[in-house]
Amino acid sequence: MAVFPIRTFGDAVLNTVAEPVVGFDEDLGRLIDDMLETMYAAPGIGLAAPQIGVAKRLFVFDVGEGPGHLINPELVETSGEWEFDEGCLSVPERFWPITRAGYARLTGVDSTGSPLEMEGDELIGRMLQHEFDHLNGVLLLERLAKAERKEALRELRRESLGLARPE
Ligand code: ZN
Repeated sequence: MAVFPIRTFGDAVLNTVAEPVVGFDEDLGRLIDDMLETMYAAPGIGLAAPQIGVAKRLFVFDVGEGPGHLINPELVETSGEWEFDEGCLSVPERFWPITRAGYARLTGVDSTGSPLEMEGDELIGRMLQHEFDHLNGVLLLERLAKAERKEALRELRRESLGLARPE
């Protein structure tokens, strides 16, 4: 297993619609293990493949009930509304109050290609919607209200310009 660097805001892979997983082989198992290790090291409760630069439709998670993963997910049901101070490993150390559905249900497959379903409300529902967004190239910033998003983007751009400046 290996810990990978987590891609951060400004990296094009985070704005890319990921491709479905087609090979259910050892490489996929290894990718899942690496993603889990990277997530735990961060630490985080969810990590999508694009966040380590792999534009494939899968994510891993652990919301305190042990490690899990979901491949080629579809968001099949949402209901309710819940506001939560949400963060993202790809936009480190920042949190915004974001309203999303309170409950979410996703269907997909596991690492062997067998059908798998994940559902939950509050933190689990939030994580599922957040990670699913990553697979469509959507960051949490896009879930902010227009004025807030503008301000957040302005700050982040300023920071990333600062980081890009040569020493
Ligand atoms: Zn994220």
